[in-house]
Parts: sequence; structure tokens; C-alpha cells
Amino acid sequence: MADYIYTMELRLTPNQQKGVTLVQDIARAAGMNVYLTGGAVRDIISGFAIRDLDFTVQGNPLKLQRELERVGAVVSAADEDLKVIYVTLPGGVRAEVSSARIERYEKTGKPPVVTPATIIEDLRRRDFTVNATALSLNPGSRGLLMDPFNGAADIEAKLLRVLHNYAFVEDPSRLIRALRFSARFHWPLEERTQVRYESAKENNYIEYITNRAIGYEIEQLAYEDDPLNIVRVLEKENWLKVLSPHWTTAKVDTTGLSQLMKTRQQMNEFGYSPDPAPAVLHFLTARLNDKEVSDIRKMIPRRDLAEAWRDLEDNAKSLAKRLTGKEAATPSRTWKLLSSARQEMVLFLAVTARQQSVAQKIKNFFTKWRQVQQKVPLAEMTELYITPQLPEYPKIAEEVFMLLLDGKLRSRTEILKFLKPLAPPPPPPPPPPKRGRGAKAAAAEAPAQTTQAGGKKKGKGVTGATVPAVPLKRAEPAKVPQKPVPKAVPAPAAAKVTKKAPPKKSSPKSKAKKAIKKH
Ligand code: ATP
Ligand code: MG
Repeated sequence: MADYIYTMELRLTPNQQKGVTLVQDIARAAGMNVYLTGGAVRDIISGFAIRDLDFTVQGNPLKLQRELERVGAVVSAADEDLKVIYVTLPGGVRAEVSSARIERYEKTGKPPVVTPATIIEDLRRRDFTVNATALSLNPGSRGLLMDPFNGAADIEAKLLRVLHNYAFVEDPSRLIRALRFSARFHWPLEERTQVRYESAKENNYIEYITNRAIGYEIEQLAYEDDPLNIVRVLEKENWLKVLSPHWTTAKVDTTGLSQLMKTRQQMNEFGYSPDPAPAVLHFLTARLNDKEVSDIRKMIPRRDLAEAWRDLEDNAKSLAKRLTGKEAATPSRTWKLLSSARQEMVLFLAVTARQQSVAQKIKNFFTKWRQVQQKVPLAEMTELYITPQLPEYPKIAEEVFMLLLDGKLRSRTEILKFLKPLAPPPPPPPPPPKRGRGAKAAAAEAPAQTTQAGGKKKGKGVTGATVPAVPLKRAEPAKVPQKPVPKAVPAPAAAKVTKKAPPKKSSPKSKAKKAIKKH
């Protein structure tokens, strides 16, 4: 039982973990049982990246909205009929909270009749066995995996299997989902599922797909890691035009899209995690006309995504303008501007900037200027007691970095000239050794300590007895992390220096001597 919780905690990002705790606590406080379900559980078990968190509560999740917002979540849409809320949890974690429900399809092409249900009943309305498991987040059963269709075995076997023979008839969007998952994971459809798929295709059940499902599936494309591949696969199967009648891969800006995914990857490596979804939609629909684009936009359930996509070009233009103005007149100013700009905008502009100067500044931001971080004079700073223990350390480090960026600290003399006025007063020297009677008395009080620390049994002064509280010699320069972090504050430098040295291990020789003595 505990294993799944362990695996979950291991597999979720820190922000996702916080998100799970948050939703779990809020649902619990509202008296609702809560489960992690669907793709999140599938990905925890299979080892694939967890793209979003799907929660299911026994109750109405719309009632959790206010409490979620109070703790910093953004609720971007709510589906009153199905009782689902689309949320972005703190740290940009995408999540959905659905009500556990039974869906009864009474007429082809008509939305199902929905009634509240238990979690086990809810799992029966799911699309594929691999998506029909739930992990309890409730006290008493936390970590229990509910798997009535043996989904874990299908995850292991890497097979997509529908839950029953009517799966594609009831909801033809599952045809698109089947293909999307199959392309993403490289998991084939199980044999009978494949037969059902072909037959549904032949009977053209897809024409019964609802607008809600179309909007949902378009949105899902935006979150795919390789959206171009998915779009190609959908096109080949004639599902792309179901999402929008004139949509083909020819309407996609493929160069822009692949550049976007590459730049996103690079930004991830630098410690940024921009949400590429709005830009993905921009490139996927680059050559559709305005009306087609706006029709698609209207169908997307998450309003914040639709709006971010709509405003993308305007926002990029205004960032480009700022990058060519006074605000970005020097490297340090440009650094500040790009560091504080929305990461999504920097990503989009990095791919689309037409002006050479703008493109160059973004390039410098990610390459040349980042390397300047390695030049922060940590040794000189440590020498002057400018260490992370100082409250003003981050500010000083930042200022040094900015001056380095602008080429204003070129020599050691310049560096010291700048740093000295900022240095704290040196710590008081260790107390002088006591002399005469006092020293004798002190020695008599603590003889064991003196011999241990000094390592000598004879001799007058015991100056080497105490470990200095501060370094007396020049410290080793601390290492700057290889992978720069978004904010240009160097890694803690002096923590090592002020630490007490670990007790010396006795050498093999002295060990041998002791052993001889014993005998
Ligand atoms: P991912 O989020 O990684 O794309 P997912 O399986 O989580 O994959 P979502 O679209 O997030 O897909 O949906 C969450 C869960 O809701 C699914 O795992 C599935 O259990 C259920 N679900 C979504 N769409 C359908 C559908 N059309 N029919 C039945 N169940 C569905
Ligand atoms: Mg999901």
C-alpha cells in the first residue's frame, strides 16, 4: 500500500507534490474523499513524465473553488454540467478536479446523463484501462490503488484497451485519444480495441463528437511534448479536420514549432520552465485564417490558455520594443528586463524575434552573459568576509554580477575597490593566550581539553588549542554551480570556511602503534 505513495512522491516534481497535498487537504476539510486518478496515476506507474494532476472527489469540486483560490490556485474554467474545475496550482501545476460520476449514454451524439457516484463507479466511465485507476489520498487508505480493470497490468504490457465494446460509440473523442496516447507512448491498441476502433471509424461515429470534446482535445495538443508528431498522426487518420475542418500539417509553422520546442528545452536546462502551450497553439494554427483560429480559441476550456494564446503576439511586440529602448541600454539592464519578463514571452520572442538586436540580446542572455556568473570574485568576497551569512550578501552578489556584465570590474584592484566599502568589520581576533599564574590555573582547570586539542602533552603556550571562528588564511574559492540558476546570485561561498574542521582520522601508522601498545 505504502509503495504507491512512495512512488508517487518520488515521481512528482516538488511543486506537484505540494499540489497533491494542497488539494488533498482542501478536499478533506470539505469532507470529500479525494483520489488521484487517470493519467497522473498511469504516469506514476509507467515512469513517463506527469503532465498534469487529475483529481477526483466524491462530491462537487466547484465547492472547493474558493478555498483553492485562497491558497493561490487559479481556477481557469468550471464545467457546471460535468462538475469539473480546471485549475493551475501554485508553481504552474496544471490540474483538474472532477466529481466522481456515472455517465449514462442514452442516445448517440447526445451528452451523457450524469449522476454522482463512488470512485469505483466513476472508474467505469473512463476511456482506457490504463486510465481507469485511482490512488486514494484519504486517511486510512492513503496509497491504496483501486484498479478494477487491471489497468496496472496493461500499463506493464503497454497496451491501450477500452473498458467495454461501446467505448467509441458512446464518446467518439476516444478515437482521437486512442491515437494520441498511442503516438505519445508508442503503445499499440489491444487487438479487440483495434477492431472496435476500425469499426467505429468505418461507421463514421466521429461525426457525433461534441464541441466540448473537440475543445478539450485541441487543448490537449498544446501540452504534448511532440505536438507536431501527434498532429501528423491525427491528420493521417483524418482526425485533424474533425478538430477544425481546414486544419492540416500544411497550416502548421513546423519550423517555428520545432524551434520553440528546442528553445524550451534549452530554457529548461537553464532552470526556467516556461509553459509553451500558448505558443504551441500559435504555431500549430499559424496558417489557418483568423476566423478559424478564433473558432478554435472559443472551444478551449481553459480560458487563461486561450487568452495567453490570443495576446501572445502583442505581448511579444511590446517586450521587443522594450528590448530596443533605454530600458535595455546596457547588458545589466537587459539582464534585469529579461529576468523579470514572463518566461513564456521570452520563449516566444526567442523564436520569433525579427530584429537582429533583440534576437542577439536574448541569445546573450542565455549564453554569453550567463557565463559571466563564473567570474563573480568569490575568493575576494570571502577574503573580505562578504559571505552568504551576511543579510546583504544577495544584493552585493547581484551588484557585482551586474558590474561584471557591463565590464566595470576588470581587474583585482577594481574588484577590491568596489568590495572593500561593503565589507563588514572583521571579526574580533581570538583571545590572547593567558600568561603566568592565570595560564597555569586555566591549564589546571581544563587539562584534558588542552592536550586533546593541541595534540601535545608538553609545552607552555597553547595557542593552537582553539579552532578559529573565522578563516585566518585565504579561503578556497567556492564553486559556482555549473548549471546557472535564473537569478544571478552565486552559490554559498563561505559556509565551508566557517565550519569546524572534522576531527582528523588517525593514520594507519598511528592505529598500528596503538594496536602495538595495547598488546
Ligand atoms: P494526459 O493528461 O497525460 O494527456 P490523461 O489520461 O490524464 O492524459 P486527461 O485528458 O488529463 O488525460 O483526462 C484525465 C482522465 O479523465 C483520463 O485519464 C481518463 O480517465 C478520463 N477521461 C478523459 N477524457 C475522457 C473521455 N473522453 N472518456 C472517458 N474518460 C476520459
Ligand atoms: Mg491528465
